[in-house]
Order: sequence, then C-alpha cells, then structure tokens
Amino acid sequence: MRDLGIYIHVPFCGKKCGYCDFYSVGYTRQTAEEYVSAVLRNIRHYGDTERKVSTVYFGGGTPSLLTSVQIGSIIDEIRNCFSIDEQAEITIEANPCTLSAEKLSELRNTSVNRLSIGVQSMIDSELKMLGRVHSAERAEQAVLDAHRAGFENISCDLMIALPGQKPDSLRYSAEKLTSLPIQHISAYILKTEEGTPFDCEDIKLRLPDEDGTAELYLEMVRLLEERGFMQYEVSNFARAGFESRHNCRYWKCEDYLGIGPAAHSCYNGRRFAVERDIAKFISDDVQQVTVTDESPCGFEEYAMLRLRLKEGLYLGDFPEHRADIERKLPPLVKDGYAETDGERVWLTPKGFLMSNSVIEYLVF
Ligand code: SF4
Repeated sequence: MRDLGIYIHVPFCGKKCGYCDFYSVGYTRQTAEEYVSAVLRNIRHYGDTERKVSTVYFGGGTPSLLTSVQIGSIIDEIRNCFSIDEQAEITIEANPCTLSAEKLSELRNTSVNRLSIGVQSMIDSELKMLGRVHSAERAEQAVLDAHRAGFENISCDLMIALPGQKPDSLRYSAEKLTSLPIQHISAYILKTEEGTPFDCEDIKLRLPDEDGTAELYLEMVRLLEERGFMQYEVSNFARAGFESRHNCRYWKCEDYLGIGPAAHSCYNGRRFAVERDIAKFISDDVQQVTVTDESPCGFEEYAMLRLRLKEGLYLGDFPEHRADIERKLPPLVKDGYAETDGERVWLTPKGFLMSNSVIEYLVF
C-alpha cells in the first residue's frame, strides 16, 4: 500500500503578524464551519483506501482556532476515506493564546499526538515587535499545560536574526525553550517578505547584516546541539527519534496531498496548488488546483531537497551524476561547507547558511 501524508491548510488567524505572508484571513465561527465542511468534502473526493496515511499535518494560519470537535471530525473523515496508519503522526500548529488547559485535554482526546507551538521568542519586547499576541509567560504556560495534558511530542518555533537581536538575547530564548519539556525546535531566520508590513526601511535597517546573521545561526546550532536538540535539517532540530516525519516528506520527495486554500501537493506524480481564496474554496464542490509541475522530483529537485537534510544525498542513487558531484566536492569540503564519507554527501552548518549557492554549485 503506497504511503501518503495529508496537509490541511487552516487559513484563519486572530491577528496578522507583521512579517508573515502565509495565506490567512480573520476568523469567524460561520466561515470556520463552512471551511470545515469544504475540507470534509475534499477528503471524500480524494479518498483512496489503497493509500496508507502515515502523517497528517494541520498548518496555517492558526489551526488551533478550530474547535477540537472540528479537528476530530477532519481526522475521522481521513480515517473513513483512506487507510490510516495506527502509528500516524498527527500534528497541529498552535498559537500559545489558543491553548487553554481545557482545549489541550480535548485535543489530546482526538488523535492529535504532536503539537507545533508558535513561540518565536522568550523575550516579551521581541514578541511585541513581531506583532505576536502572546507573552513569553503565556508560551511557557502553554508548553507546560500541553505536557500535563499528555503530549509527548511538542515542537516550538524560534525566530532568529530579528531586528536588533544580539547573541545574548538569542541565547536567552534558546536556553529558556530547551529547559521546557519539548522534543523539537524549528528555528527560522526572519525574512522580510515582499508586501508585508516588515518590508520597510525601518525594519530592514535594524536587521543583523550577513555576518551578524551567520554568527546568530551558528551560535544557535551550537547551543541547541549542546542541549540535545540535534540538527537534522537547515532549520530543524530534534531530540533522537522526534524528527518531524511529515516535514521530512517534503525533503525526501515523498507524496503529500494538500487540502485548503493555498495548500500545495506532490501527489500521484504531479505538483499542484490551490488558489489563495477561502471564499472560492468554500463555494467549489472540489478545490480547484493549478498544476505547477507535471513530473516533479527529477535529479536537481531531489538533490536540492535532500541536501537540506543533515542525512544528505546518497551518491549511489544517481550514478550518472556521481562523477560530476565528486569533482566539485573537494573545495567545498576544504572550506568547511560540506562533508562526505565517499557514499554520502551532506552540508555542515556553515554550508546550510549558504545552502542556496552551495547546492546550486554542486547540483547544476
Ligand atoms: S505568523 Fe502564524 S499567527 Fe502570525 S499571521 Fe502568520 S500564520 Fe498567523
């Protein structure tokens, strides 16, 4: 039976953060109900009991704005329409402010078994500058409540290279986070996305420069690994055995089906995307998709994605490209950007920092 991951894009947010360009709209109870009905319709449309679903990921937006009953009904419909693995990893992204102790215990009673909490920083002034609605204390409480509710697989987001951020403040947030009962950290470098409120001179002038960003990133890798969160991807760190199985699909070119406005898929040999339009998603019987790639996961794309993983690229997988890669490797290894054991090549943290240019040089 072929393996599959399902991604549900939940496009609601209580308040838009200044740096974010993910697709989301304001939450209303009625729109959320109509949205959930449309998700259920689409699950029935794509349903295939010959596909074994081993990961489900509710991303957004703020999926934790949905009620536990709504989340449970979506999981039940997936269970009815596909074959779901007993050990499936089922993740929901959550904003700390939406996680009361009561909501957490309700969520634990659905099949959700992994939480990804958008903490970003453990310093209130940084959270305020990012436009986040939670405080550091609220974030800490949410993690402790989740742990108490029985969640044993908790991830937190951490954002680095914030305007004015110094290694000391990053160290403070990383130390606070790693002392909580969590197993995974996603740490992203802040980017000023075009068209967002952060896309302005006032913010850009205060961002760390290239050297400052490199210093922060390398310090974060060192600190997280020292505390048992080992880097397994450019931006992801986990205690042993807690790597995100769903996200690893993206970097291993494995199938996933995305449902919801702005969701992307790599499914049955095609990449496709749904329009960023919740009204259309709700009114269409079946979500309308635009095919973006008719034959995904060729060598270049596969190698680019694999090299984001610490596990790296197996040279034996593409014998026709082996000699070319081996010829280009020595200067990268000499300068500390990549390593190899003769069968596999992988990037170092210094290589991850320059991953776009290093990968381009190696693969194209
Ligand atoms: S960062 Fe998260 S909570 Fe903030 S607007 Fe984007 S999706 Fe919503």
